[in-house]
Amino acid sequence: MEAHSLLITFLAQLGVISLTLTICSLARDRVQGELTLLRKFASGALFGATAVLLMNMPGELINGFRFDLRIVPIAVVGLISGPVGAAVAAILASAVRVWLGGAGVWLGLVGIGLAFAVATLGYSFAKRGFNGSPHVVIFSALNAGIAFLILFLLPANVRDQLTELNAHLILLLLNFLATLISSFFVRIDRIRRKNAQLNELHRQIVSALPDSLNVKDLQGRFLIANEATAKLMGAANAVGMVGTTDFDYYTSAEASLFWEQEQAFIRDPKPLTLEQQFERNGQTVWLSTIKAPYFEMGALKGIVSHTADITSQKALQAELISTQVLLETAMSEMADGLAMFDPDGRLVMWNRRYLELFPYVDERTCQGRTLAELLTAGVLRGDLTLPAGASPLSWVHEEVERSQSAQQSDLRLSDGRWVSKSTRTLSDGGWVTLYSDVSEKKAAVQQLVQLASKDGLTELANRRIFDRRLAEAFRTAQSSPTSLSLLMIDVDNFKAYNDTYGHPAGDEVLRQIAAVLRSACRGELDLVARYGGEEFAVILPTTSIEVAHDVAVRLAAAVRMLDIPHLSSSKGRVTVSIGLASVTGSMSDPQQLLKSCDQALYSAKAAGRDKVRAASVEDLTSMTV
Ligand code: GH3
Ligand code: MG
Ligand code: MG
Repeated sequence: MEAHSLLITFLAQLGVISLTLTICSLARDRVQGELTLLRKFASGALFGATAVLLMNMPGELINGFRFDLRIVPIAVVGLISGPVGAAVAAILASAVRVWLGGAGVWLGLVGIGLAFAVATLGYSFAKRGFNGSPHVVIFSALNAGIAFLILFLLPANVRDQLTELNAHLILLLLNFLATLISSFFVRIDRIRRKNAQLNELHRQIVSALPDSLNVKDLQGRFLIANEATAKLMGAANAVGMVGTTDFDYYTSAEASLFWEQEQAFIRDPKPLTLEQQFERNGQTVWLSTIKAPYFEMGALKGIVSHTADITSQKALQAELISTQVLLETAMSEMADGLAMFDPDGRLVMWNRRYLELFPYVDERTCQGRTLAELLTAGVLRGDLTLPAGASPLSWVHEEVERSQSAQQSDLRLSDGRWVSKSTRTLSDGGWVTLYSDVSEKKAAVQQLVQLASKDGLTELANRRIFDRRLAEAFRTAQSSPTSLSLLMIDVDNFKAYNDTYGHPAGDEVLRQIAAVLRSACRGELDLVARYGGEEFAVILPTTSIEVAHDVAVRLAAAVRMLDIPHLSSSKGRVTVSIGLASVTGSMSDPQQLLKSCDQALYSAKAAGRDKVRAASVEDLTSMTV
């Protein structure tokens, strides 16, 4: 056969194969996902039909020996739709070959069978990831080898004729080339389809993005833009934006501003973020734009811009800042001090008033200091006054514990101020304490307490305090072997004094007697009280009746010594009568002591006034002054 007609046959057969591959590729583009069994059958049938077509347009190498490229579609369909497709193609081709009949039926069937085997092999290798260029070459060589093998199965005379003409090499080469071209087509087609899928994915991501994403060339023309860009710029649609510039959408002032920004970016193409404010339809809009360079083969070709509307974030931020300012103002203008401590007891937040209340807290260094450190500084500087008898170390420790467990307590400052603390623990283990200056309140309370316990005229303890102190002293005397004595003092003929000198003068007398009684007693230990009207009482703890008698005599003398004239009295001056009594074993409550004291006073009056009389103790009842 002439080389010319051999080439024509080869090209014609290759053309048929290419046409089949193209049809298959176009069909595959319309199919999503993996191939179904039906589709594998269809592609097998298509490639089987191609093999049949090739069988029907053979070339003739030598007289009576025809050749075709039928094994190529049978093997290649294996790469596309696996053994199923290859089997369908092989069966179709075999059936036709048998139907055609002739001498080479068996050899023809062997060739088709081997092509099916190569198809299956190639498919399983490709599935395992062996589908690079070297694998395609090996696959093609294997398939071409079939033609070589068939040659050796031919009758010797035909084989000799063929080898003489080097026809075996020609057959090998043609099959190899056809398989190679076809398998590369399949491979490239597969890669193309994958890329198309990937592109589609990217396209969908970009178009679904709520933020504007676009690429402009160096002249500011849009190369690509997504729908969000079109919406942002007021364009009809994203596709129509290609080739347009900012000048088509914005005022020339705005577009020029963007142009200048882009030119600056082109001069120094480093990724950057811009936050800008615009007026749109009378409303303020904040946009955040990220710009990045777009390179092609190492050369800057454009600018990628990603723009997000951050108006609501900005509004939120502004709100947050104004809330913060409000909060800070409120904190610093608070009348009370406020301090927040973290779970480790470290100061994390405080207000101005806190610093004013505690001069030992240094604003520059207090951040992160523990409450223990701050209190210790206060103690060392002498700013804090500890409760009487407290050791500084344990007081600080207790104070921290009180804060941690939100116990209310007061701090006493050396300048006399009182600061009341109220603490709330936080869920994380920290706490917030409110410090209030309660100095005035404390003073007022103290004043009230004093008012409630003192007699207004004489400033002695009043009846209420007397009753309480007597009950206390009585209990103490019962539980310990100390004795307790009580004096009842009554001014003699006082009604007559009032009548003679007037009530105010009487008041003055009562005041003078009170002062004398107080100065003649033991300061803190004894209690001198105004029992009522012109009667006084003196509680003398740890005092025996003998000593109490001495005290009473001394008090009566002291009043006499005041020498306040009392013309209506037979004594000529103001005098008092005193009854005294001590706790005895038979007494079970203070009332009994009071009663016997009162009886003693009655005796003193009965004895002529200006007298001291003791109750219960016989040898003392006779004592007179
Ligand atoms: P006796 O020697 O028996 O105690 O005679 P007396 O007049 O002192 O006794 P009486 O109980 O009859 O009178 C007590 C008087 O004390 C009557 C009252 O006017 C006077 N008095 C009581 N409280 C006050 C007071 O607060 N101021 C003045 N000026 N007089 C008072
Ligand atoms: Mg009286
Ligand atoms: Mg009296």
